[in-house]
Amino acid sequence: MGIIEKLRLDGKKTFVTGGARGIGYNIAIALAEAGADVAIVDVDEAVAKTSAEEIAKATGKKTLALKADVTKKAEVDGMIDAVLKAFGRIDVAFANAGICKNIPAEEMTLEDWNQVININLTGVFLTAQAAGKVMIRQGGGSIINTASMSAHIVNVPQPQCSYNASKAAVIQLTKSLAVEWALKNVRVNSISPGYIGTDLTLNSPALKPLIEKWNAMAPLRRLGKPEELQAIAVYLAGDSSAFTTGSDFVIDGAFTCI
Ligand code: NAD
Repeated sequence: MGIIEKLRLDGKKTFVTGGARGIGYNIAIALAEAGADVAIVDVDEAVAKTSAEEIAKATGKKTLALKADVTKKAEVDGMIDAVLKAFGRIDVAFANAGICKNIPAEEMTLEDWNQVININLTGVFLTAQAAGKVMIRQGGGSIINTASMSAHIVNVPQPQCSYNASKAAVIQLTKSLAVEWALKNVRVNSISPGYIGTDLTLNSPALKPLIEKWNAMAPLRRLGKPEELQAIAVYLAGDSSAFTTGSDFVIDGAFTCI
């Protein structure tokens, strides 16, 4: 079998949290284009539904829209049950839901801090734990977490300490799970995108005015496109990455090199 065939995901059952839009949506459609059935999991049920329908229409694969808040264990567990009911198994879990708050550290309320940590870190843990249990029972699977280049550098000029801390923790959580579950054939990796043009950046009143400043600092002088993360997602989801676990993939147009 050639490498392009090995990269295909035919028959794989997958889900993506935060899959209604942005990076999650682009990853979900890539998984389906590669042959997988995909559940779109999001707090925004209406957009999740539209996105799931679009992906089914574009790819002919089975899709599902599920409402779940990744910070709520009961909702995450319910989502896993719903994916199992619809698809019968879970081969690939993409823990991608995340938010960013731009607040100076000295002004940050505990509530704001907790919201970011709960979604970006605890949400990834709850998702990976619930999917991991199923994968251990099945004899294997691939979990991919969305970290960020903010795990590696401190973004400027915006203040976002809770985001940066949450994403650095996602990488160490990823490595910890990869080691714990290595012999159970459950692989766990993360991706660390640089600035990507999505709602989170393009439609954020705090961040949108900063795009020109970021681009001036960026070696490629532009934001990344969410579709530029699709190939790494397909690679990590499939069996051709069998020796890849506990790794973080920085896809940032060399932003963290400078
Ligand atoms: P986005 O805001 O466009 O999409 C995020 C999605 O997550 C939304 O559909 C939202 O409804 C959903 N979501 C938010 N909270 C949730 C919750 N509690 N439970 C379930 N779903 C929830 O953002 P994006 O840019 O596509 O970001 C996706 C991931 O990539 C995030 O983890 C983000 O931190 C990370 N990331 C983004 C960038 C960037 O520049 N856009 C860079 C690096 C990393």
